[in-house]
Amino acid sequence: MFYSEVKSKEQVIKDTVQTWREDFPAFQSKVHGKPLVYLDNAATTLKPRLVSQTMQDYYLYGTANIHRGVHYLSEQATQAFEATRSKVKKFINAKDECEIIFTRGTTESINLVALSYGQTFLHAGDEILISQMEHHSNIVPWQMLCERKGCILKVIPINDEGEIIVDEYETLLSEKTKLVSVVYVSNSLGTVNPVRKLIESAHRVGAIILIDGAQAVSHFPIDLQKLNCDFFAFSGHKLFGPTGTGVLYGKQELLEKMPPVYGGGDMIASVTFEKTTYNKLPFKFEAGTPHIAGVIGLGAAVDYFQSLDLTAIQKHEEDLLAYGTNQFDSIDGLKIIGKAREKKAILSFTLGPIHPHDIGTIVDREGVAIRTGHHCTQPVMEYFGVSATARASLSFYNTKNDIDTLVEALGKVQKIFQ
Ligand code: PMP
Repeated sequence: MFYSEVKSKEQVIKDTVQTWREDFPAFQSKVHGKPLVYLDNAATTLKPRLVSQTMQDYYLYGTANIHRGVHYLSEQATQAFEATRSKVKKFINAKDECEIIFTRGTTESINLVALSYGQTFLHAGDEILISQMEHHSNIVPWQMLCERKGCILKVIPINDEGEIIVDEYETLLSEKTKLVSVVYVSNSLGTVNPVRKLIESAHRVGAIILIDGAQAVSHFPIDLQKLNCDFFAFSGHKLFGPTGTGVLYGKQELLEKMPPVYGGGDMIASVTFEKTTYNKLPFKFEAGTPHIAGVIGLGAAVDYFQSLDLTAIQKHEEDLLAYGTNQFDSIDGLKIIGKAREKKAILSFTLGPIHPHDIGTIVDREGVAIRTGHHCTQPVMEYFGVSATARASLSFYNTKNDIDTLVEALGKVQKIFQ
């Protein structure tokens, strides 16, 4: 008998995910003798082979400092380093490569804006708006700036679903608002904020706006020319790239008028004891020898991520989130924290009176990596009246089987505490 084997949609996606997983050697690891179930992607993503191989090649065969050398290896390293800038520019659709500044991560990117733009252009009485769901790295730099300059920090409230209350935001905005800084996707709730609307409204009162894109870049395409925010920050290590790398995007006209924060090599045009002049963008903000291997590795991460089918990834992650939510809803005593209508890849939860650290420790024995604690968002915990949550955060290489393993492990947790 002749027949052709037609794969079901379910099988096609299973096969695709399996192909993706093969790029990540971490899945060959055993944890306490069990296969690794990695559900801590919001903390940091796993790295594909391509990223570590690219960095290793630089260290083993191509080590040289950049920008200042005329010799072959230095030119090669400079080219690879600058190629990442061009890749990132395309990846987030910035207008110009000079708008891409390499940093150590989201935290440093936000601090750079506070220390340069904030320190120079904000004054006593000016208002800075952030939301209740910000990561500490998007709270503390602004508090420090307020202390130094006498600015006023105002907080946009959230609702019980874990969504920004947009009407309240509009009410808080006034001609006194000089800067708004909000997260795109919340790392502890998964909420996707309506940033386009928030950006438009901030601009209407003449404020500039920074978007913390740390949890956004690995889940959906970013188009900064469409979004029209003034600053955008993200970390390489949450985008399948190396730790210690990150990006600050800033609109050229803003970056041009901002003073550098760090002084040293590479950021100068000329130095005399009488007067130093600064380099052009973006080098003005990149003093000293950067994380060359890391930036080159970040370029490989961007290449890798862009080589995948982003539409398939988004669909798969949506399915996983829906499946996980459903499975969690059937567990007695489990409460999901964060039920926004627009939500990505994050399942924060409590399980009756059981402390999240106990949950994390017990599921770890089953090979399941989740995060527990306040996730550097203590004001979110305060809002929901908990000191901590357990958090499973998903990426494209996760499977329904991973969620089933977690759910089974949670069953064991409940048995132990019965
Ligand atoms: N913002 C958000 C939303 C985050 O999730 C994180 C990391 N958890 C950060 C900022 C800080 O990123 P990094 O530690 O890489 O600087």
